[in-house]
Amino acid sequence: MSTTGSPPTVADVVAALDRRYPPAWAEEWDRVGLVLGEPDRPVRRVACVIDVVPETVEEALAAGADLIVAHHPLLLRGVSSVAATTYKGRIVHRLIKADVALYVAHTNADVAAPGVSDALAARFGLTGLRPLHPPRPASPADGPGQDTADGSGRGIGRIGELPTPMTLAELTRLAAAVLPVTAWGVRAAGDPGRMVRTLAVSGGSGDGFLAEAAAAGVDAFLTSDLRHHPAGEHLAAGGPALLDAAHWATERPWLDDLAAHLADELGVETVVSDLDTDPWTVHAAAPRPDDKEPRP
Ligand SMILES: [Zn+2]
Repeated sequence: MSTTGSPPTVADVVAALDRRYPPAWAEEWDRVGLVLGEPDRPVRRVACVIDVVPETVEEALAAGADLIVAHHPLLLRGVSSVAATTYKGRIVHRLIKADVALYVAHTNADVAAPGVSDALAARFGLTGLRPLHPPRPASPADGPGQDTADGSGRGIGRIGELPTPMTLAELTRLAAAVLPVTAWGVRAAGDPGRMVRTLAVSGGSGDGFLAEAAAAGVDAFLTSDLRHHPAGEHLAAGGPALLDAAHWATERPWLDDLAAHLADELGVETVVSDLDTDPWTVHAAAPRPDDKEPRP
């Protein structure tokens, strides 16, 4: 794409990302694509982040990024002001003053193949990948060859086989080891001794896909943001065991894939943020009885 000596422009990077993550694949409520930035500005370095928050913005600016590619939209709902007196307005001002562009690939990156959940599945070495929740029937806007029926594997979440079957307790420890470290860690629901061969994974909030995981007949489903009642009722109905990881940790693996693609496709330098933006910062497990210090 770029010729020697002339870096790609913001418009070039947007075009490349739109090809890999077509905006038409995003959910109707979602807001993806270029958020701010001038199309003709050169891009030498791209910062890849999950969340656009002051900390990741400062990190990107310090790294000399010309463009930030984020997973979560900074501006999802309608806004009538980006005044610097507001939290998000300050971020917008900071980026524009620093001449740093911002692009978002959210639910369109979730359903892409490779997409967010492929990177998550790769952490577990899953094979024979297939989508957990195939996309809605193809529309002309989707372009040719994007049906799951043609084997592209597009859709939300992935189902695959573990290299070695293991118990739910072992899988929970494995998840904590292969996913980025967070205070939240990983918790699981179901019989700790239950054997898991087939695993479904879905980056981000997977609460809405419990029925799909049960219908797919997987042994366990790893996602984030699971809740008491839906999880309890799902298990009571004989559904797969559940693993609940930190939201950020389930999506962070995708940033490596995103950065590698940008480097290959456009020859730009990339930096990937490992700044944990999960809101949960403290975790304490109840002490076991034998951990308690004996009274003097
Ligand atoms: Zn998310």
